[in-house]
Amino acid sequence: MADDTGAARAPSGTHDVLWPESYRWEVLVAAFAGHVERAGFGLAHTPIFEDVRVFRRGTGEGSDVVGKEMYEFEDRGGRALALRPEGTAPIVRAFVQHRPALPWKVWYATPAFRYERPQAGRYRQHHQLGVEALGTEDADLDVEVVALADGFYRSLGLSSFGLRINSMGDSVCRPDYLDLLRGYLAERRDELCPEHRDRLEANPLRVLDCKREPCRRTTEGAPSLSDHLCDPCRDHFHRVREGLVALGVPFEIDHRLVRGFDYYTRTTFEFSSEALESAQNGIGGGGRYDGMVEMLGGPPTPGIGFGLGIERILLACDAEAVFAVMPPGLDAFVVDVAGGDAARDLTATLRRAGLRADRAFDGRSMKSQLKAADRSGARLALIVGPEESAAGTVIVRPLRHGDRLGGEQTSVPLNQAVEAVRSAGSSGAFDGAGTA
Ligand SMILES: [Zn+2]
Ligand SMILES: [Zn+2]
Repeated sequence: MADDTGAARAPSGTHDVLWPESYRWEVLVAAFAGHVERAGFGLAHTPIFEDVRVFRRGTGEGSDVVGKEMYEFEDRGGRALALRPEGTAPIVRAFVQHRPALPWKVWYATPAFRYERPQAGRYRQHHQLGVEALGTEDADLDVEVVALADGFYRSLGLSSFGLRINSMGDSVCRPDYLDLLRGYLAERRDELCPEHRDRLEANPLRVLDCKREPCRRTTEGAPSLSDHLCDPCRDHFHRVREGLVALGVPFEIDHRLVRGFDYYTRTTFEFSSEALESAQNGIGGGGRYDGMVEMLGGPPTPGIGFGLGIERILLACDAEAVFAVMPPGLDAFVVDVAGGDAARDLTATLRRAGLRADRAFDGRSMKSQLKAADRSGARLALIVGPEESAAGTVIVRPLRHGDRLGGEQTSVPLNQAVEAVRSAGSSGAFDGAGTA
């Protein structure tokens, strides 16, 4: 908690997001909200912690995020809880509890917690934007969800990223495929990585997903699930691909893209940035989970969603030199060397009029207050000295930021200060999303 000098520090693997970078986060989340709400998704807030069984059953006990990385704890009442490692299971839990009308389309912005080895681009608390849509198997919903993520990246200015998709099949066609894959892998057991040599029978899909070179080489020619789908799954996958083509969303099929649980079905997808190093280039992904609602005790209800990592998206934006958002500056900074009444009252008047205004405190010197005014990024300084105070006026002085008055200062009656600031024009940064 503290460094060598005893000063408090954030926990290992976490990071603070401070102004002005935090303004970029604000704009990002607002852009996402606007983007998905236009497609009928509504915001859902669920608790940051849940009964640990929500994740054991919902996300899956055998996944690394639940099995090895979850922050689990017992509260003072002896309840087994966990900080959410991902965003889908809590939404599915909320669905099971409230049974909203179908289809149910929600979005969220949330921190997610994973006890990972801290390294660049990996955090123990990272942040996600996501959507979940429950209540229909319609392949056009898969298209909508995938295209929504693709369109969001593009709206930020990103273009160097790829989309991989696959079909996981369902409980009808996957068992036969798993037997086929098991047979293929068993014949090549000695060529697999040490972990999967012993564990291929239990979950052969995880071998396809293995990042180690021996497994990657061996599975290169493995039978692919998308070639062994039953008719309904094949039709579904066909309709998804057709839809993505129709909407102009580029993709490639990756037969290694799998999720190792029975409740993940059919469409699965991942986006990766080509501008980031491959170890941390995943910028988002998701898929169908037609069995998960049942795992959490609800009625059979299909669902699909995605989660996008905010930190990774912003890294990708930096790498592509896009989405360089600058916070809007102040309209005015009040400099008062006549006792402070004007600073107190004029800033309040300006703010009530909807303008951005700030001031200095502690009765500092004119020079010090003007320096603060410059540093604030305000367009104008409104200066009140003893003379102005006596005359009921205020000096309006353009500062070097966004100077549109030709540098000339003017004197106006105090009760016209709001109008003077307004007529000096907007800083132009109000719209926020000025991309570089
Ligand atoms: Zn392996
Ligand atoms: Zn099938």
